[in-house]
Amino acid sequence: ADRMTPYLQLQMYAKFTQLAVKNSCVNMGQGFPNFPPPQFLRQAIAEEALTESLQYTLTAGHPKLLKVTSEFFEKHMGIKVDVGKEIMASSGAQSVLACVFQALLNPNDEVICLDPAFDFYRPLIEFQGAKHVGIPLRPAQLNSKESILKRFENGKIHFSKEDEWIVDYDYLEQKINQKTKMIIINSPQNPIGKVFSNEELDRLAEILEKHPQIIVCEDAAYHHVVFGGYQPFKYPRCISHPKLKSKTVCVTSAGKMFSATGLRVGFAVGDEKYIKGIKSAQTYHNFCLNPVLQTATAKCLEQTMDGQYFTEIRDLYEEQSTMLLKGLLESRLNLHCWVPQGGYFLVTDISNVEIPEKYYKDDQDGHQLTKDFAFAYYMANEIGVVCIPCSPYFENKELGSRFVRWAFCKTTETIQDACNRLK
Ligand code: GLN
Repeated sequence: ADRMTPYLQLQMYAKFTQLAVKNSCVNMGQGFPNFPPPQFLRQAIAEEALTESLQYTLTAGHPKLLKVTSEFFEKHMGIKVDVGKEIMASSGAQSVLACVFQALLNPNDEVICLDPAFDFYRPLIEFQGAKHVGIPLRPAQLNSKESILKRFENGKIHFSKEDEWIVDYDYLEQKINQKTKMIIINSPQNPIGKVFSNEELDRLAEILEKHPQIIVCEDAAYHHVVFGGYQPFKYPRCISHPKLKSKTVCVTSAGKMFSATGLRVGFAVGDEKYIKGIKSAQTYHNFCLNPVLQTATAKCLEQTMDGQYFTEIRDLYEEQSTMLLKGLLESRLNLHCWVPQGGYFLVTDISNVEIPEKYYKDDQDGHQLTKDFAFAYYMANEIGVVCIPCSPYFENKELGSRFVRWAFCKTTETIQDACNRLK
């Protein structure tokens, strides 16, 4: 309970979604699509609900689901998965991560996260008695509005070096010690939309070769949403990197792939030596998943095996990210913006924005808020748009409070509405 207490107060995503409903705001906060999931998913769930057994399934997952998922991963990621040994399904990527950490971390182990990092890693790590070590990325340079607008071409905007958040690999290496047990690589990264390059993964592999005890947890929840010439699923990944794959557990999410975040089906893929323990952890968490949702997911993966569906979704997200970016640049808020390389989100720098003093006070307990929270409350109360404060993604709260996150996994109408309000 002591370890939990600080996190119970936060619940940021739900809080801001509730605020969006209360204030009739456009919700660009929590990362869920606000368009319907594909009809074939509903159809599959309906069919399976009428026929599938409703008894326990195997702890690792329904054999049909594991088989099809392995085939899908082989086709799109070029990796061979032993269905009996190297894959497990769990109740969403969140549960997969919980099982991974429970199985592979001991008290006092250290886990390296690259800041900004998805804020759920830290509590999950600390619940195991392990230590979260945040390594700050160097923020991208502050692009001028004009320099970004110049990069618009045929309605598209391309990522450039100016947008890149940089990992200091020498510093990362210095932070490694005997206790370092794991590093989390989230690519595309939440919240900044960074996609790691081949050169970066080579450098990481070179460092980790000297420290064979370190496991890579590759959080690839957004692996179908990669921009700038990459095909969905085919971008530099730890699980398919020749020197990293044997030390990687890759975590993915069917809910994200099929735009249904409530589906709660996610996967861990990796070497048997890791998956074995991860399955044991699952026994005591979920025991098993809902069979209907598992076989329905299997059907959907079969139907989308050619990848066409994911290319369309990716193209849509690329358009939405561009539309939102344009809206943010055209607003009078004077924000610094960067082009994301993938995922559901983009981040802006809010240093230039003046926020009325009253928003710096928490309206529940009156305590002083950081600028990112003040900005988010100001937006929700006066502009009618909800975004997510970024300090929870950073170990260095002062640095993190310069940024807020915007989700673009929303309909064209929603993004247009947000852009109009931002103007
Ligand atoms: N992963 C999602 C996000 O970053 C939502 C997390 C959650 O609300 N469970 O917005």
